[in-house]
Amino acid sequence: MTKDDSDKQQKPQKKRFIAGAVCPRCSAMDRIVNFREGGKNYRECVECGFKDEIRLQSSPRELNTRVTADREEVVTPVKIIQPPKKEQ
Ligand SMILES: [Zn+2]
Repeated sequence: MTKDDSDKQQKPQKKRFIAGAVCPRCSAMDRIVNFREGGKNYRECVECGFKDEIRLQSSPRELNTRVTADREEVVTPVKIIQPPKKEQ
């Protein structure tokens, strides 16, 4: 019966896929899972096995931060303000 107790203590890791996440190693999209291990957050690519620690700051926004080589691709809310065009 001790088996039941150990199962309760060690919950199966809930791995959630990060939508839109791209693996920095194999560039596979939607193959990155997010899970907790040892009190730390990790992301892992189910395609190539890439694993990296996610350092969470106080801001939950950090979770969705896209890591890029250069910061050209900064995700910013795009405000589309189209001036009324006269069609002819
Ligand atoms: Zn990968």
